[in-house]
Amino acid sequence: MYRGIFLGPPGAGKGTQAKKAVAEFGLEHLSPGDILRAEVAAGSSLGKVAKSFMEKGELVTNDVIIGMMKNKISGITKGFILDGFPRTIEQAEALEEIMKILGHKLDSVLNFTVSVEELVFRLSNRLSCPDCKSIFHKYNIPPKKESICDNCGGTLVIRKDDCEEAIKIRMEEYRKKTSPLIEYYEKEGKLININGEGNSSEIYNEVVKALK
Ligand code: ADP
Ligand code: ZN
Repeated sequence: MYRGIFLGPPGAGKGTQAKKAVAEFGLEHLSPGDILRAEVAAGSSLGKVAKSFMEKGELVTNDVIIGMMKNKISGITKGFILDGFPRTIEQAEALEEIMKILGHKLDSVLNFTVSVEELVFRLSNRLSCPDCKSIFHKYNIPPKKESICDNCGGTLVIRKDDCEEAIKIRMEEYRKKTSPLIEYYEKEGKLININGEGNSSEIYNEVVKALK
């Protein structure tokens, strides 16, 4: 039963790859970004707290995220991929504690690397399906019908944080707070680097090799 983390900057393709892998291997996909967007859409108190951070492109505070993820991880009975958690050293330390309490071992951390120029190109032309969470790209992966999700027929949207200003802040947040995790997991001997540029199915082959 695989239990691991997909790490990388916004737009690295972690989510796309994680969705394929969980479907093939029968794992749970835990994305705090998806969970928070659902909370915002539902207008819950958690959503109200998270909304302004997310729209600006800032990380939501550690206390909120850690409590939320502890809850989710504790409820899982199969293997899982954490996609977007941890994103700070404090979150990584909290995860270690959570795993210890549950008696779980962390198998590996897949670190997706992509150049900043490519990340910005991907994010600034991204189209997202709010219904089934599928992701398209205006040029790289255009939907068959403009603005319509191939998968579920939902109306595609541009996420509020996929605007130029928020993208810049997300990149800064990644550099300052998340990128130190590369060294953190390297020291633990858990890190596997995945070249996140190029063909999506080639990247997926690398992911599968790493999960086995
Ligand atoms: P991306 O990786 O494309 O930036 P996500 O969907 O993973 O997008 O996250 C969207 C937003 O949700 C982040 O910009 C942040 O505000 C919030 N978020 C997601 N994961 C975390 C986390 N682990 N810690 C703090 N905030 C988070
Ligand atoms: Zn859809």
